[in-house]
Amino acid sequence: MSIASTIHQLQTQMPQGTRLVAVSKYHPASMIREAYDAGQRIFGESHVQELQQKVGVLPQDIEWHFIGHLQTNKVKYIAPYVSLIHAVDSLRLLREIDKQAARVQRVIDVLLQLHVAQEETKFGFSPEECEEMLQQGEWKSMEHVRIRGIMCMASLTDDEAQVAREFETAHRFFLQARDSHFAQVDYFTECSMGMSDDYPIALQHGSTLVRIGSMIFGPRVY
Ligand SMILES: *Cc1c(COP(=O)(O)O)cnc(C)c1O
Repeated sequence: MSIASTIHQLQTQMPQGTRLVAVSKYHPASMIREAYDAGQRIFGESHVQELQQKVGVLPQDIEWHFIGHLQTNKVKYIAPYVSLIHAVDSLRLLREIDKQAARVQRVIDVLLQLHVAQEETKFGFSPEECEEMLQQGEWKSMEHVRIRGIMCMASLTDDEAQVAREFETAHRFFLQARDSHFAQVDYFTECSMGMSDDYPIALQHGSTLVRIGSMIFGPRVY
């Protein structure tokens, strides 16, 4: 299926309030352009250098989301334009985003990455660590970051019940954090969950941002 028809098909599947992030990492700007021409405006990348190159040659009204693991020393490069950083996995990274956002006079939206999968190699806060960080409260004094919600990756498994449990755990954490730490604000609204292989399950468990790459653009060539 073409990029345009997959984009259209996915967009019709998005429930009210849920957005599609087209994950374009490792794919050329020409393919992003095809998706853009089909009406897609949000793109996700996970390598700073690659993102920098694409930003320079693609339309200005694209919303660039950084979805991968972000090293603190690279935050400064994307701070001027990034719309949402999905995978904040340490207080140190949050501080650096606040600092770099201040330098360019922006407020940068971020999500906290929760580790809910079985794999040990994935980044992210455990729900306990994340709760501790929220209770500790330093984030409240950061004027240049806005925590919009959470992000997670489920285990890479065919066991759909397992994947569903993991999304459910993340979504329950999101609701609890919203009610206990963000009750006074209206912007803590996002649950970034679901990729090509598991997005239908994520949509059933409260996802508001699905990150879909290979289903749109085909397999990545690394
Ligand atoms: C690459 C990537 C995706 C997209 O994965 P697909 O299986 O190609 O849909 C989603 N989220 C993150 C964090 C990624 O790194």
